[in-house]
Amino acid sequence: MKITENVFQLESTKRSHIFLILAEENILIDTGMPKPVKEILDELQGLGVAPKSIRTILLTHHDVDHIGNAKQLQEATGADVWAPEEDIPYITGERIRPGVKRVIGAIVRPQKPVIAGTYVTKKRFADVQALRAPGHTPGHTIFQYQGIVFTGDLFKFIDGRFRLFPGFMNWNQNEVKKSLSMLKKMEFEWLLPSHGGPVHNSPAAHDFLAQF
Ligand SMILES: [Zn+2]
Repeated sequence: MKITENVFQLESTKRSHIFLILAEENILIDTGMPKPVKEILDELQGLGVAPKSIRTILLTHHDVDHIGNAKQLQEATGADVWAPEEDIPYITGERIRPGVKRVIGAIVRPQKPVIAGTYVTKKRFADVQALRAPGHTPGHTIFQYQGIVFTGDLFKFIDGRFRLFPGFMNWNQNEVKKSLSMLKKMEFEWLLPSHGGPVHNSPAAHDFLAQF
């Protein structure tokens, strides 16, 4: 789905989106649930995007539906993969989240990408700005680019309804709310959550954010 002239929400990983930003050096945000990576590469080819033109992959957080194809896409593109500092131990498998995420992690085991660095050392990728928005995970990060905010898993927007993730899916529910209140102060044309969406700047979007 084309969001703007140079921002796309890919169709090949529908349930947990991959976003493509066409810049001087093309950027992917997140990598979806593990699947045959060829389907993603074919979709990119269809958009006229050669694998090697993707130089940067930005991960919002460590969950399997976001890092699922990071390693395979890294191999196919040669891109640098960036991740939130606090989430790296969970990406590498050094640490495991308790509760439901432990169960998911035991079932789905994505391959591990090589992490080039964190948003502590680098906050800007071309015109894409990384902003720490913890709560869903310790290091959960959102990205701002030309009137668009890629909001990761701060909330979902499915069937026209805004929803928060249930508490047991969030690392810290209070931090989620604090991060959502940060969105309230940001100017945007589109909010692009990883699940559902897109959300146009509208009274409904502002009513949702006004709760935080
Ligand atoms: Zn997710």
